[in-house]
Amino acid sequence: MRIVAENLEQAYESAGRRLVVLKDISFTVEPDEFVAIVGPSGSGKTTLLGLLAGLDRPSSGRVLLDGRDLGAMSEDERAAFRAANVGFVFQTFQLIPTLTALENVLVPLELKGNGRRADIDRARALLERVGLGERLDHYPAQLSGGEQQRVALARAFANEPAVLFADEPTGNLDAENGAAVADLLVELNRERRTTLVLVTHDPKLAARAGRVIRLEGGRIVSDSGPGVSRVGPQWSAEGAPAGGLAAGGTPPSDAGGAPEGGAA
Ligand code: ADP
Ligand code: MG
Repeated sequence: MRIVAENLEQAYESAGRRLVVLKDISFTVEPDEFVAIVGPSGSGKTTLLGLLAGLDRPSSGRVLLDGRDLGAMSEDERAAFRAANVGFVFQTFQLIPTLTALENVLVPLELKGNGRRADIDRARALLERVGLGERLDHYPAQLSGGEQQRVALARAFANEPAVLFADEPTGNLDAENGAAVADLLVELNRERRTTLVLVTHDPKLAARAGRVIRLEGGRIVSDSGPGVSRVGPQWSAEGAPAGGLAAGGTPPSDAGGAPEGGAA
């Protein structure tokens, strides 16, 4: 899914003061990209992801997903658009505690109406894909953090989203489980050809992205530029700027590309 952020600004009023959390945010993400958003705590990463995913509305500016202006939609239209097109993975898993692993993965499918049998088969196949085929009937409390996040990954891919947003998906996991979740996320993203926008503090995970955007104090301070992330014939790096693929969290010093990521 093509993501266009145009002059996004987000401000909150608190105690009579206006706190600007995001300012002058403009970039374009092409459908074949895997973008990492990095930056210190409080720099606005979660806020930005929420705007891109249509979970929140900006104070000003626009977000276009495949040309559709999220701001022009009603709350209900945005919810329906998200259900059909967007997957989200949270740092804190956000599974529904009263539902089993299988039922959690079924939640996004229930809006699609493919028929119960087909949905159950699909949810089971996804849980098998993330290595939880034996845990279908377990509740979140019976699963480790790594297992819960793998259920959340299966849930995020259940509706075959065109774009997946992940907010520090490994942030609450130890190194070993974090690495397993990161591997699965990157593999599923490749298999399903999903656009991936990921917030992370993990330099190793950011280094796997084709492009790194760094926020500080609510502004973009560097953007390694459009980069093609996937390997394989359709996704050759041909035409991608050198900095795009080499970026490992450190921006290229010449900041070669246009800051707005204006790929023609
Ligand atoms: P990050 O994810 O990079 O750590 P956030 O996007 O969560 O940063 O937050 C950026 C800033 O916005 C922080 O200073 C935070 O306190 C503030 N903020 C986030 N949400 C709200 C809100 N609903 N009301 C007021 N301030 C908020
Ligand atoms: Mg955050």
